[in-house]
Amino acid sequence: VRAVTVYLVGAGPGDPGLLTRRGAALVARADVVVHDRLVDPAVLSLARPDAVLVDVGKRPDDPAGGAARQEEINDLLVRRGRTGLTVVRLKGGDPYLFGRGGEEAEALTAAGVPWEVVPGVTSAFAVPASVGVPVTHRGVSTSVTVVTGRVGDSAGPVDWESLSRAGGTLVVLMGVATRAEIARRLTEAGKPADTPVVVVERGTTPLQRTVRTTLAGLPDVPLDAPSVVVVGPAAGLRIESGRPPLAGITVVVTRARAQSGPLADELVAAGARVVEVPVVETAEPDDGGEQLRRAAGGVARFGWVAFTSANAVDRFVACLRDARDLAGVGLAAVGPATVAALARHGLVADLVPDDPTAAGLARAMTGPPARVLFPCAAAARPDLPEALAARGWEVERVVAYRTVPAPPPPEAVTGALAGADAVTFTSPSAVEAYLAMTDRDGRPLPLPPLVACIGPTTAAAARAAGLAVAVESPLPTSEALVAALAAAVAGGGEP
Ligand code: SAH
Repeated sequence: VRAVTVYLVGAGPGDPGLLTRRGAALVARADVVVHDRLVDPAVLSLARPDAVLVDVGKRPDDPAGGAARQEEINDLLVRRGRTGLTVVRLKGGDPYLFGRGGEEAEALTAAGVPWEVVPGVTSAFAVPASVGVPVTHRGVSTSVTVVTGRVGDSAGPVDWESLSRAGGTLVVLMGVATRAEIARRLTEAGKPADTPVVVVERGTTPLQRTVRTTLAGLPDVPLDAPSVVVVGPAAGLRIESGRPPLAGITVVVTRARAQSGPLADELVAAGARVVEVPVVETAEPDDGGEQLRRAAGGVARFGWVAFTSANAVDRFVACLRDARDLAGVGLAAVGPATVAALARHGLVADLVPDDPTAAGLARAMTGPPARVLFPCAAAARPDLPEALAARGWEVERVVAYRTVPAPPPPEAVTGALAGADAVTFTSPSAVEAYLAMTDRDGRPLPLPPLVACIGPTTAAAARAAGLAVAVESPLPTSEALVAALAAAVAGGGEP
């Protein structure tokens, strides 16, 4: 059995949340990603930093010269596939719905290159849904037809006359350029001029635009490709839930991917669209963790272990034999994230300050002076050890990990940032790494309009770096950051 080397993956309509789990896993693993212009940058940002991204730039809505270009793409896939690298061919929506995915699969088969298709969420259904239009609806529409609006330079040999009679919902892809002709042919075939129509450009992306009209108004809709045109009674529906606080807001999360989960989840729960641009990652300390292992081995010598980072908890606990090593040792945790990290290892924090900062933690550690082990980031500030030392406590600081810059590919980042409303920073190191990033031409990256920082320490670092910090949560927690962002959006109007 030969390993599959080329995956034809449906990228969904834009929102990276609409990429399948299999698709996301393959993009994250790919050595080479060959993509259309239609594929959203937020999806491309899931690729490995060292992956090669190839924009084959074929506009699926522009078949002029399409055949020749398609040949080249087929050849490219065959050539790359033969190298044995993992090649992901990312196609907007579903690869087999007007995506010419079938032709690429045939070319790979003919060349003997093993391939696999991974279906995707098609724009034909997902984009109408995103504006409150179900393509079928009991009592309104009992069928849906998906049709191409463009064949050659016109609406082509599509049988608009029978489509007009078919009733139900008509979803036209690649039809915005020929919208006047489509409206005319459907109307001539007897479809009422007041039939509801909704046109959605770049659905499920931050650049989404929607126009609701009728068949008579379709020729004048001021939208461009890529757009979905929906014709029929269902297009007149608008079934939407209440708007969550961050609906319509795109937020960039700069945290290391391994730690982005809780914040991303909170943001999504508040209705935001999340774009992950992990600018940092955690790495072993310079000594490979030697000092940490030694400290963990002798932890019984300490009265307390103090944690100001969830990462430090994970790295420290990994060096223990098991929880019995901690018998008789107090565990001090700065706030909810470190408490939760301890809990994941079955450990209960003995001390959690009201003020979730390193200084607050030091103040909460009262009683007779004791020996404290402080496993922390290489860049951790000296507040805790200094405050305790000033009171005669003995603090041993050991570096548990380093945070290092890990900028994603410039082409992925530049696109992901376009249209973003806010950027969140959860550590001074992320601020620094973000500001150091450049685009392909070596220019600094644009900054989304709203800069939001988790807690005072990160906010101070951002201000020191010259950023205008619009949102600063009082507490360094994901919940507090999302709440502060929601308050700013509600107060300032939608950006
Ligand atoms: N395979 C794709 C369709 C490819 S044809 C799918 O399943 O979605 C390209 C056409 O798809 C575009 O011209 C447009 O009509 C539609 N389309 C794709 N993504 C879209 C989006 N995010 N918003 C609106 N239309 C989109």
